[in-house]
Amino acid sequence: MYDVIIVGAGTAGLTAALYAARASMKALVLEKIFPGGQIARAHIVENYPGFPDGVSGIDLSMKMKEHAEKQGALIKTEDVIGFELDGFVKKIITKDQTYETCTVVLAMGANYRELGLSREKQMVGSGVSYCATCDGAFFKQRDVAVIGGGDTALEDAVYLSKFASKVYVVHRRDEFRAQKALVAGAKKCENIEFVYDSVVESIEGEYAVQALKIKNKKTKEISELKVGGMFVAVGIIPESQDVRDKVVTDDFGYIVTDQGMATSVKGVYAAGDIALKPLRQVVTAAADGATAIYSIQNYLMENM
Ligand code: NAP
Repeated sequence: MYDVIIVGAGTAGLTAALYAARASMKALVLEKIFPGGQIARAHIVENYPGFPDGVSGIDLSMKMKEHAEKQGALIKTEDVIGFELDGFVKKIITKDQTYETCTVVLAMGANYRELGLSREKQMVGSGVSYCATCDGAFFKQRDVAVIGGGDTALEDAVYLSKFASKVYVVHRRDEFRAQKALVAGAKKCENIEFVYDSVVESIEGEYAVQALKIKNKKTKEISELKVGGMFVAVGIIPESQDVRDKVVTDDFGYIVTDQGMATSVKGVYAAGDIALKPLRQVVTAAADGATAIYSIQNYLMENM
């Protein structure tokens, strides 16, 4: 029986693992694919304190894993398929076995949102991508489009501008949600062009992306952008599908917690991008993981 099982090994999960290990808790981290979460897909992280020149997302996440393991954290690659969260002893069911634990940290993070265009899924790997860091290098000297106006879209555009001949940023409004510093950085790149008030209507090209049909929402005008790649960066969806009937979430599936990251179920905590909060950054995910373990220590002292 574990003191805590942490589901997900992104920034929140790995920080929770580090704090749990340092508190001498019997802790287990379960991760379905590989550690790192969202941040492992960021080519550079420029706003995590202590890295004045930035740090690559993959390097930062691997350091977090190394740090947690060095302190004694146990991380296993296993896909969690069931949660039994009622009562003092909770069960976490994976494809291989069932684990028992007194507390759980839900740190499954979030995944990318799709645009919902016809042939979008079919064209993944043939010009449609959700990860500029992973796929950018395939688009050397080609024209590409980034869809979205948040931090991810602006960071992706700057990253892609190093490979691509031209990067169009297609945004549905004429103001960006992204941090001002990121917008300013993108505006300095000569090969980035902004296409405002516009949405993608369709993907053109039989076997690979050759162009996008774009609709201007104000003028209703339809135009064609000749691009070989479309990078979709229109936000994230919390990975809370398996627990939405067990803990309270908001309408979008973000898990509601108190200040100590406790959910509506006793002994169950949520941390990182899966939790309802105003700011989703590496630094807030790390803080959530640490806070959840602090709360769990108190919970175990009161209930054991
Ligand atoms: P986001 O902040 O939710 O932005 C999504 C963008 O896509 C918005 O501009 C939105 O437009 C647009 N959009 C949404 N649905 C769309 C649709 N169907 N069609 C066209 N456009 C659509 O998502 P994100 O940029 O992935 O960021 C997610 C979280 O991670 C945020 O909290 C962000 O701050 C954080 N993040 C931080 C960093 C960093 O600090 N360096 C880097 C990456 C991400 P509207 O603006 O009109 O809604």
